[in-house]
Amino acid sequence: MQPGTTIFEHMSGLEAIVHGNNQYPSMWGLPELREAVMNFYERRQGVTLDPDQDVVVITSGATEALAASIMAVAGPGDEVILFAPAYDAYAPLVRRAGARPVWVALQPPDWQASGEAIAAAITPATRAILLNTPHNPTGAIASPAMIAAIIDLARQHDLVIISDEVWEEVLTGGAPHVSPFGMAADRTIKIGSAGKLLALTGWKVGWVLTDAALAERVAKVHQYLTFTTPPPLQVAVAAGLALPDTWFDAARARFVTARDRLAGALTAGGWALLPTQGSYFLMADLAASGIAMGDRSFCEAAVRSAGVAAIPLSAFMPDGAETPFIRLCFAKSDAVLDAGAARLNAALAGWEGLHQSPPIA
Ligand code: PMP
Repeated sequence: MQPGTTIFEHMSGLEAIVHGNNQYPSMWGLPELREAVMNFYERRQGVTLDPDQDVVVITSGATEALAASIMAVAGPGDEVILFAPAYDAYAPLVRRAGARPVWVALQPPDWQASGEAIAAAITPATRAILLNTPHNPTGAIASPAMIAAIIDLARQHDLVIISDEVWEEVLTGGAPHVSPFGMAADRTIKIGSAGKLLALTGWKVGWVLTDAALAERVAKVHQYLTFTTPPPLQVAVAAGLALPDTWFDAARARFVTARDRLAGALTAGGWALLPTQGSYFLMADLAASGIAMGDRSFCEAAVRSAGVAAIPLSAFMPDGAETPFIRLCFAKSDAVLDAGAARLNAALAGWEGLHQSPPIA
């Protein structure tokens, strides 16, 4: 397959819908996809896995993997450590499990947390630490020091590390992906998603990779959440994961180019951007760009007056309080990126006017 072409030209999903078995597959997922997931991580991340161990559970997207993992390890009276800002599903899922989110702040501009800060949040009720690297919304990756601290603390306090790594292939900063699974497979639930690996966000095929005992616990929850995931999509994702490294490398390179295109245009227009290492997102600093507006007010004005949808960082904060940061997505065509940057640059030049412009009826 040529880099740059879409996955559909290489997919056996259609064939699987027409000619394959469309009845309930195994609750754990199709054996061919579970094997493809293991092969993918051995090939791309150098992990060593025992083919005779049941360590992969296929889920309906990473979202179900998160729900099943949280419910597998935490319940009423328990606590789960979350890092703020956080992907929006985490806290509601922890609460839905009956547990309590305990927040540790990530510090800008590189959005890390120290071992001391994490240790201070641990109590006898803590059951898990939920890490997300690369991180949505900031585009940061957890430093090796932060990951080492999490592993140390998890070992000391007998905690599970739920590691949401859906952005593991969308690396834009040149640093390799580091997963706690590689160093602590016995207590890490690593979560992946075909939605991000194959740029098919609507397919909702995800998985956990963990050790056999934890996989059994996750599978028990998965049994009564969704039981299984559509088999033709699983067949197609297995074919996608077996694509050569050149395909994944080319996909990554396209996102680097898109990030650079948007970042370059905005920087030239006077925007102060934060460094970014992964995901489809980059963050702009309103205050450092000279805009004296909160993130929510700016995003409302930008969508109404400039037609650009940015997400306020406050939407990812536990208390929802306004911040000076907005999240921009660069997984767009060149034309959309150029138009968006031009409009944001014009908004920056006249932000006082932007603030005062009347809402579009
Ligand atoms: N985790 C993170 C950090 C995400 O950014 C997303 C999707 N934006 C998900 C999980 C959900 O993935 P899926 O669509 O596979 O459920």
